[in-house]
Amino acid sequence: MPLKNTKEEIYSFLMKFCEIRSVTDSEGEKLAPKFIYDELKKLTYFKDNPEDLFIQEIGEDRLKRSNLCAFVRSKKQTMNTIILMGHLDVVDTDVCGNLRDLAFYPQVYTKEIAKIDIPKEAREDLESGDWIFGRGVADMKSGLAVQAGLVAELSENTDNLDVNILYLAVADEENNACGIHKALELIEDMKEKGYKFLCCIDSEPTITQLDKGAGWIHLGTIGMYTPFTFVLGRETHVGEYFEGLSAALIAFKLGNLIEGSDEFADNFKDVVYPPLTCLKIKDLKPTYSVTVIERMAMYYNVLFVQRTPDEILAALKKAASCALEKSIAEQNMKRLTQGTQTKEKILKGRIIEYNELISLAADQANEDIQKLIEAYLRTLSPKMELQERGMMLVNHLIDIAKLKGPAVIVGFLPPYCPALYNERKTKRELDILDTVEEIIGEAEKTFSVKIHTAEIYEGISDLSEFGFKGSKRDEQVLAKNMPGWGMDFVYPFHRSKNLDIPVLNIGPIGKDAHKLTERLYLPYALEVLPFLLKKIVLGLAKRAKLQ
Ligand SMILES: [Zn+2]
Repeated sequence: MPLKNTKEEIYSFLMKFCEIRSVTDSEGEKLAPKFIYDELKKLTYFKDNPEDLFIQEIGEDRLKRSNLCAFVRSKKQTMNTIILMGHLDVVDTDVCGNLRDLAFYPQVYTKEIAKIDIPKEAREDLESGDWIFGRGVADMKSGLAVQAGLVAELSENTDNLDVNILYLAVADEENNACGIHKALELIEDMKEKGYKFLCCIDSEPTITQLDKGAGWIHLGTIGMYTPFTFVLGRETHVGEYFEGLSAALIAFKLGNLIEGSDEFADNFKDVVYPPLTCLKIKDLKPTYSVTVIERMAMYYNVLFVQRTPDEILAALKKAASCALEKSIAEQNMKRLTQGTQTKEKILKGRIIEYNELISLAADQANEDIQKLIEAYLRTLSPKMELQERGMMLVNHLIDIAKLKGPAVIVGFLPPYCPALYNERKTKRELDILDTVEEIIGEAEKTFSVKIHTAEIYEGISDLSEFGFKGSKRDEQVLAKNMPGWGMDFVYPFHRSKNLDIPVLNIGPIGKDAHKLTERLYLPYALEVLPFLLKKIVLGLAKRAKLQ
């Protein structure tokens, strides 16, 4: 039976969709586009227009994943188009322990999770009977299911539809976003053919530090940097501790200064966004030995709305310099108080931007440094994560540069996502504000729920890719300080800037995304969200027609 835009059908679509183990970077991720394809293929519209439903292969992806694309053309010959978009992948279920396999079967999982110890709030939600638990129920298979329901309904009557609908379910959101980057090529092609994109609507679940029980509509999306610090200490035998300087000492002090610090928490229109957190700490010592750690690499997540790469780099350099100075001072003091015979005293360390490290390596190399970099990256396994490849490259360049510690190298790694917000400048942006305000009022009255609007979706989303608003300088700072730029990763600033499509996130009420207790509030997801989505799409189409 073809999909219908009803509560029951959306629910059943969601349950089947969750069983597809589309964990990012796994084989299962490749099965998800086919699942939606098979469901939508049954619709009369796609039977009549098979060329409008297709799987878009991501040729350049090392894992050969793909996206699902469905296009519903209005018979009214309009070029106005709205994008409905979401991601197919989910994070893995390792955090679910013994239940890790069952997390893909939400109904069973919800029963099983009742038997284990879960936080009080999750227990209360569970006992209310209104919530379903499982991987992807909130983030974000329910969003894609509701959007698919709307596609099904709108495709039934294209004679009266004022807008074309492009539905995109993309891979790899939770990791490096290769799915959306590929999908943008399609959107760019359509733009060249004259299609006018009114808005791109994503349906990510609520992630907020505020009212978690209410519905939220977001007018923009947060940006994300992944800066790194690579600490180079000075090696020594543990028995002659004071003759070297442990990279761990510097790294710990640095971590202490920046983890969760106010300095990296961006502030936009009176909202303070989450602070920096370390995503990975790695020491580069290959095996056990009684040598102090010489090299340690850390990379971080930094969320932002308006902060520039220059500002992030400057703040990191300042913190690194402070950590380095403190470590050296302390080391020298302890050398005296612990009465060692070590004579040599380390006086100074260096803070080096990644682009400066390349110059230092180029000075020492007998060959073109760019060629050396490329050759080195080719020796690394393509299966190795981009961040790891970047760190290994920094390590290699330190060797070529014959750099002696103590030093801290700072730069950026992928992924990078720009921030996007409604500037209230264009008609399209203003239409979105008016439509949202009108529909929220209607929905609150119809369903007696509270729905808030917020400037920025804090959960990170593919919406970032729809209109880069940074400067040329931002582009340059990122490009020259990102190991592997141009070979492993490149950010398509130009394309993003050209697209310039306003965005909106209208998603379900979910809690604990990525956790053991990921869950979805069913009454909102199955009734309010389909209402909101449909009304907003039709409302935007109507307003666009009026101009
Ligand atoms: Zn998500």
